[in-house]
Amino acid sequence: MNHDDLAHWSKIAADWARDYHAGLRDVPVRPNIKPGSIASQLPAKAPDAPEDMSTIFADFERLVPSNTTHWQHPRFFAYFPANASPASMLAEQLANAIAGQAMLWQTAPAANEIEAVMIGWLANAMGLPDTFTGTIHDSATTTTLSAVLTMRERALDWAGLTDGLSGQPRLRIYASAQTHSSVDKAVRVAGIGQNNLVKIPTTSDYGMDPAALDAAIRADIAAGHLPAGVVLCTGGTSIGACDPIDACIKVAKAHNLFVHVDAAWAGSAMICEEFRPLWEGIEGADSIVFNPHKWLGVQFDCAIQFMPDPSEQIRTLGLRPAYLNTQGQDEIVNYNEWTVPLGRRFRALKIWFTLRAYGLDGLRERIRNHVAWSLEARDAIALIPGCLLTTSPRLSLFTFSYIDDVETAALLERINADGRIYLTQTTHDERFVIRVQVGQFDCTRDDVMMIPTVIRDLIA
Ligand SMILES: *Cc1c(COP(=O)(O)O)cnc(C)c1O
Repeated sequence: MNHDDLAHWSKIAADWARDYHAGLRDVPVRPNIKPGSIASQLPAKAPDAPEDMSTIFADFERLVPSNTTHWQHPRFFAYFPANASPASMLAEQLANAIAGQAMLWQTAPAANEIEAVMIGWLANAMGLPDTFTGTIHDSATTTTLSAVLTMRERALDWAGLTDGLSGQPRLRIYASAQTHSSVDKAVRVAGIGQNNLVKIPTTSDYGMDPAALDAAIRADIAAGHLPAGVVLCTGGTSIGACDPIDACIKVAKAHNLFVHVDAAWAGSAMICEEFRPLWEGIEGADSIVFNPHKWLGVQFDCAIQFMPDPSEQIRTLGLRPAYLNTQGQDEIVNYNEWTVPLGRRFRALKIWFTLRAYGLDGLRERIRNHVAWSLEARDAIALIPGCLLTTSPRLSLFTFSYIDDVETAALLERINADGRIYLTQTTHDERFVIRVQVGQFDCTRDDVMMIPTVIRDLIA
């Protein structure tokens, strides 16, 4: 296969892609198959002789689509969708064709400069002060890890990088129980340890209690521990909990602690001014993460980290061996010094294409529709006998139960075997509940109202 063959097959792939997306509403969102059923159809060993692309492509068509959970299905209401707008897919094809490596400015000048401009566009669109800068990571998980490593080193005056953590006081990080498991992973990987992630109690609306945060920090200081930072959430994954950002940042700053805010899915909604009260006080944060690959339609993977001052993170993660120097350019921004991996994909291109192809107004309209339609679906579900709303919508996420835990789990299983829609579960106040998350890029009101229809059909 050479580049001429690539051009030929790319056209076939483009037509295949159009038909695939056009047909999604007619297939189950999630395939009804058993683990192992796909691997068992593949040969045990790689071929010694080259194979024809037509044979390979035929096998792809035979094996992959029917055994795929369709994340771009308009009735995907599970987790949070990983949206890929057509414009972002096109940009991804072009980035793939260039196949550059954007670790340094000089290894990818266009990628790096477009990245800087996109960070500015997004910060402005979300109402953040002009002072915020930032970078693109692969995921919210590695972004939060980067922020936690920065908290650690800032608290240790950067001694951890050279001397390690032994002999240091116990580092302490604070978050609520509603924050995502990526925070747990970050403290584990950062060598801080799960037991030093202090889960702060929440108030009746499941946001962190600032007074409890203050008390926990004071108790740790009295015990000789070393508080290092606070991770807050705007839109927790389970039920969409939002910490009171302003009050919690005030507490953190009174103790000189670094604050990172995880707004992975809800952050995109901040392009709409009316949702910004959910993170009031955000301009006081030291670091913010959100995933345009969730609600902005920028193809996975794409996580944005905003920071008013990146210097502490660069001091934590940046290394400049001789072979990574750019001769004569000491002051240039090299984003690999802001992130964990050295190598970086050209992710800014798909942001550029998406923001221009739909405009902020087009993206705002989608988000507003999703929020409005989720309210309609909630109202319809509330009328179904046996269904009980367990949490009210935070933006476009709500939860409900059906009779009891056992019946709720059984209903969820029937919903996903039915295939018209796809929902997932969480545990809330020790109950098994079903999550409804409306956010698929191409979903319509009819798609969303299929949720109560399917529930009614299945319990009739
Ligand atoms: C999705 C999500 C994450 C994890 O995102 P990745 O990019 O997959 O690492 C973290 N926090 C919240 C609130 C999320 O919704």
